[in-house]
Amino acid sequence: MTKYKDLNVPLRTIMTPGPVEVDPRVLRAMAAPILGQFDPAFTNIMNETMEMLRAVFQTDNQWAFPVDGTSRAGIEAVLCSIIEPGDKVLVPIYGRFGYLLTEICQRYGAEVTTMEVPWGEVFDPEVVIKKIHEVSPKIVAIVHAETSTSCMQPLKEIGEACRNADVLLVVDAVASLGGVDLKVDELKIDAVIGGTQKCLSVPSGLAPITYNNRIEEVINKRKSIELGLKTSQSEFSNNRIMSNYFDLAQLQDYWSPVRLNHHTEATSMQYALREGLRIILEEGLENRFARHKLNEKALVAGIKAMGLELFGDQKHKLPVVTAIEIPSGIDGDEVRSMMLEDFEVEIASSFGPLHGKIWRIGAMGYSSRKKNILHVLSALEGTLIRKGFNVDRGESLQAALNVYDEYKLQNFVNVKVEADKITI
Ligand SMILES: *Cc1c(COP(=O)(O)O)cnc(C)c1O
Repeated sequence: MTKYKDLNVPLRTIMTPGPVEVDPRVLRAMAAPILGQFDPAFTNIMNETMEMLRAVFQTDNQWAFPVDGTSRAGIEAVLCSIIEPGDKVLVPIYGRFGYLLTEICQRYGAEVTTMEVPWGEVFDPEVVIKKIHEVSPKIVAIVHAETSTSCMQPLKEIGEACRNADVLLVVDAVASLGGVDLKVDELKIDAVIGGTQKCLSVPSGLAPITYNNRIEEVINKRKSIELGLKTSQSEFSNNRIMSNYFDLAQLQDYWSPVRLNHHTEATSMQYALREGLRIILEEGLENRFARHKLNEKALVAGIKAMGLELFGDQKHKLPVVTAIEIPSGIDGDEVRSMMLEDFEVEIASSFGPLHGKIWRIGAMGYSSRKKNILHVLSALEGTLIRKGFNVDRGESLQAALNVYDEYKLQNFVNVKVEADKITI
C-alpha cells in the first residue's frame, strides 16, 4: 500500500493558448506499445510523419521532422545550427516571444539587432525591410503569431525582401501551425518552427520544424564531426554547432534513410504526432482554418455582446487567440480562478506589460469547438456577474449562437461547402 492514490485528473475545458485539449484519438495512439527506434515498423512511422508534416507546413522541403522537446527546442535547434558566433541577426519584436528569439540568438553568440513596436501592434513590413537593408543581417528571426498579444505579423513582403537580399528568414509559427494558413514555400520562409500543444492538439513534447536547402547548406558546411566520435577540441572546426542535442546536421542524418543514431526517440510522442497530423489531413487544411475562424467569430461576437472590449490591432488579430481587456475594477486573476474552480474552464492571463490588463482565450485545435466556445462564454459571463461587473445579461450566448446559425444557413444555400466537414 502507498499513500499515493490513483492518478485522477479533472476533465477541464482548456481555452488557453496552450497546452490545449487533445483529441481522444491522439491519447489512444499514445497507449500503443513501444517500438525500437530502428525497427522498420517504427521508421515507417517516422517517414509517414515527415510526409504529413510537409503537407501541414505546405512545403516541398525535404526536411520536415520533429525535434524532441517543447517548441523552443525546435527554435533553438534551428537557430543554433545556423548561427555562428558574430553573425548578425535581426529580430523584430512585437510581444513576448520576440524576446525569446533574441535571447536564444544571443546565447549562441549572434550580434542581435532588435526593433520593437508596442504590444498589440504588428510591424509595417516596409519598416522591417528598411531595417534589413540597413543592418544586412545573415538571419531575420520573427514570430508569425504572437500568442502574448493575439497579433499576427504579415510575412509576404518580408519573405520577398529576405530572399532578394539573400537573408535567411526563420519564423516561429508555434502558435499558428495547423490553425492558421501559413504557406511556407510561397512566403519564401527558409525555416519554420511549429508547436504540438497548440493548434496541432498533441501534448507538449515535440517541436515540428521544416527548412529548405538554403538552411541545409549552412548546416552541412558546419558538419565537421562525424557521429561525435572525435573528442579532442582540436578536431572540431571553429564554427562547429555548439549543441549536440540540437545539432540539425546530426538530426538530419537520424531522420534520413541513413538513420545514424543520435538520441533515443520518444516513441509514444511520435505516435501522438502522427495521429494528430492524420486528424488534420482528414479534416483538410482549408476546413480546419475555416473552423478556427468560425469559432473565433462566435467567440468575439459573444465577448462583445457581453460589453467587453478586445485588445490589440484587430486588423492583424490572430484567429486562434482572443485578447480581452480586463474591465477596470475587476481582478483578472480572481476571475480566472473562479472560472477554473466553478466551471472547470481555463483561460489565460498575459505576460510583462499586459499582465493584469488582458485575458487571453485560446481556441486551438481540438479546443476550437462550438461546445467549448459556449462553455467559456457562459463561464465568463456568470463569473463577471458574480464579481460585480455589469454585463448585458444573456446577450453573449445568443450572439455566439447567431453566428453558428448564420453559418448553417449559408451552407444550406451554398451547396459547395459540405457542412459536416466542419465540426463546430
Ligand atoms: C508557446 C509558444 C512558444 C514556446 O513554446 P514551448 O512549447 O513552451 O517551448 C514559442 N513561441 C510562440 C509564439 C508560442 O506561442
